[in-house]
Amino acid sequence: MRRATTKVKVFYNDKLPNEATQRPVSGKEAIVVGPKFRALSRDSQDWVLIHEIGHWVSSEVGLQTWVKAAQSRGLDPWDQTTLPWGQYNMEEAFAETFVVAMAGHDNRWPEWQSFVKAMGKRAGL
Ligand SMILES: [Zn+2]
Repeated sequence: MRRATTKVKVFYNDKLPNEATQRPVSGKEAIVVGPKFRALSRDSQDWVLIHEIGHWVSSEVGLQTWVKAAQSRGLDPWDQTTLPWGQYNMEEAFAETFVVAMAGHDNRWPEWQSFVKAMGKRAGL
């Protein structure tokens, strides 16, 4: 993850209504945090930031590309009943799995964890 700090840009926006979001800034995918992010505990900040890095990976790789890559591994992001962590949205499932895979202390959904790590590498992390 060390290189991620140079690859993923994080910006502060004092008008951001939520803790953090992932979106393009000046044409490049980035993470934007706001005042609510600063109010979080350090552990929660870590979780939120890595979740947003998961969204960044998704954007860098591209939704269509990673969905095809997932399907080639036998994962079905379109099947809401099989998404990890009780998620119903494939992009949130991806981002939450990214956090868990990086933390490395939960072995559930190992195929998804392996998959998001591979996508992180594909994104250059
Ligand atoms: Zn999210």
